Amino acid sequence: FLFSVPTVAKRLTIVSTHTSTQCCGPNRDIFLRELISNANDALEKLRLTALTDKSIWDGTEPLNISIKAVKDEDGKNARLVISDTGIGMSAEELSTNLGTLAKSGTSDFLAQAESSDSTGTGNLIGAFGLGFYSSFLVADRVYVASIPPKTARNPNPVQNVFSSNADDSAFEIFPDPRGNTLGSHGTEITLYLKEDSLEYLENDKVTALVNKHSSYSTAFPIYLFTQTTEEVPDEEAIAEAAAKAAAAAASSSAEAAKSTPSEEKDSDEAIVEEEKPETEEKKEPEPPKTKTIVVDDWAQLNALPPLWQRDPKNATDEDYELFYTAFWKDYTKPLSWTHFSGDSESGTSFKAIIYLPGKFDDEYWKQPLAYKSEDVKLMVKRVFITSDLGEDVLPKWASWVKAVIDAEDLPLNVSRETLQSTRFLRQLKSIITKRILQLFNRIAEDDEEKFKKILEVYGSIFKLGAVEDFKNRDKLINLARFSTNQRNYTSLDQYLENKKQGQKQIFYLSEMGKSTEDLAQSVFVEKLHARGYEVLLLNEPLDEILVQNLRQYKNIPFQDVAKAGLKFGDEDVEKEEKEEKEEQTERYAPLLKYLKEHSKDVVRDVVISNRLVASPCAVVADSHGYTGNIQRMMSAQTK
Ligand code: ADP
Ligand code: MG
Repeated sequence: FLFSVPTVAKRLTIVSTHTSTQCCGPNRDIFLRELISNANDALEKLRLTALTDKSIWDGTEPLNISIKAVKDEDGKNARLVISDTGIGMSAEELSTNLGTLAKSGTSDFLAQAESSDSTGTGNLIGAFGLGFYSSFLVADRVYVASIPPKTARNPNPVQNVFSSNADDSAFEIFPDPRGNTLGSHGTEITLYLKEDSLEYLENDKVTALVNKHSSYSTAFPIYLFTQTTEEVPDEEAIAEAAAKAAAAAASSSAEAAKSTPSEEKDSDEAIVEEEKPETEEKKEPEPPKTKTIVVDDWAQLNALPPLWQRDPKNATDEDYELFYTAFWKDYTKPLSWTHFSGDSESGTSFKAIIYLPGKFDDEYWKQPLAYKSEDVKLMVKRVFITSDLGEDVLPKWASWVKAVIDAEDLPLNVSRETLQSTRFLRQLKSIITKRILQLFNRIAEDDEEKFKKILEVYGSIFKLGAVEDFKNRDKLINLARFSTNQRNYTSLDQYLENKKQGQKQIFYLSEMGKSTEDLAQSVFVEKLHARGYEVLLLNEPLDEILVQNLRQYKNIPFQDVAKAGLKFGDEDVEKEEKEEKEEQTERYAPLLKYLKEHSKDVVRDVVISNRLVASPCAVVADSHGYTGNIQRMMSAQTK
């Protein structure tokens, strides 16, 4: 049957040619990663289906991926063949998966690619992936032969071929004329390479690509077809030599029989003596008769253990970054990571890598406490088990973390439900949380520049965590940094170290969305600043919530400088000010009376203040009243 693929393939060709001007190599390279990831998925699907239906796969046939470069004897028809022993596809599946999914899967990408300039397209290909259709970046014709496993519903599966080319807008599906060549299940993708893509015939090129992009994305072995030369016994030559030797032996014994032994013996002996060395040499075993032959071989490309299983000493930053990208499909570099092994209290030993992503998923800040990620991957003995670890495996403030955890001694066939009741999983929460906090602390202590970058992404996380995670509150507050009228990046501990003698409050001014410069200029900060006090300038959404939740830090209460209740703690000055204030209150009594009368509907009181230096007056919130910030929020709601 014949289906139509409207223009997708054509448009892809355009993409590939217009990126080919400068950086096509690395861009086209992605086809291999995509096809290997599809093969991995197919193998994984087979393994998972077989958990409930052993008849599909009994665990003995190997699950693997193989890559082979071939061409005809005349050098034509160069092709790269990528096969897997995975779940395969029926004719219908070939049609829907490869014919229609590609349409929707690539349309977003193409829309993106078209709206950006040509230099941006290169990254877009890598970032979004073209899936199966990336084949056409390097091939002008693609055949996909595939056979699904035998099941009750499909007792006699047939090997079919899906065929499509880059310029045409149609594909065909037909029974494979070769019959069943793939065994009981699997898929074989044959790429007829374009003239400009013949480099992919070279094993070195393929090896490098697999190492770079795919060595971490699959636990299944990837084999590359190689041909090596080998010296083997040359049976023909040996047989020939043996025949000659036999003939020679026959003739010499015949001669010996003819000669007269007694006469010639003496003289012969003398000659034999002399000739001995030569005779000895002749008797030595002949050099082995060998010939050079070409042997077909399959070399495993991803023979290294997965990164988390390796000794961190033998892994480079690049290894960690490449693994991160391949494993989580996140193309923003991680900010940091920690790689460790341990034994949980329940006795399960495990290896893990925890990453701090370089940015958050867009969804995260929309609902940080309800955000659910699937980025903590649990493996058992290197086999992926689940990334759905249930609600409580992470504290809510840390639900963005990306981690891989490989447990040694959990049963491989552990189901998600039984897993959730294992003690190990319950212990994971504290293991992960502890390590994340350690990692942040280490950076805060050792690497100021790096910590500033961390603060850009995670600054609000520390504040959120301090509000939400009572158990780790102190550790999280210690990581939070604030701007003040005196400096940036102040921790609360640093603030306390810097407090003035007698100061009994942590001063802050909070107005969401205002710049710290504006806050510093506020009339409320003036007086404190002039007298050398440090004031926290809070302008982030979580700041006010944090301060109101904490109320105090190390037994020192927070004091909103825009609210009544401010104490300088500087006794003499305070006394002096009190007297001055009383004197002024008396002197300005008529003015106060006048102002009170005329503004009684808007303010509760009018008083003389010693807080102001340069400004003539200020409207402040009552100490038990709402802050300006919250009032603004409330009036916005009632509008
Ligand atoms: P994605 O992998 O994102 O789903 P692709 O375009 O890469 O998109 O693949 C489309 C679909 O084709 C896959 O979802 C899968 O159903 C099917 N497919 C692709 N390659 C294979 C394969 N090697 N074995 C079985 N199914 C495959
Ligand atoms: Mg894919």
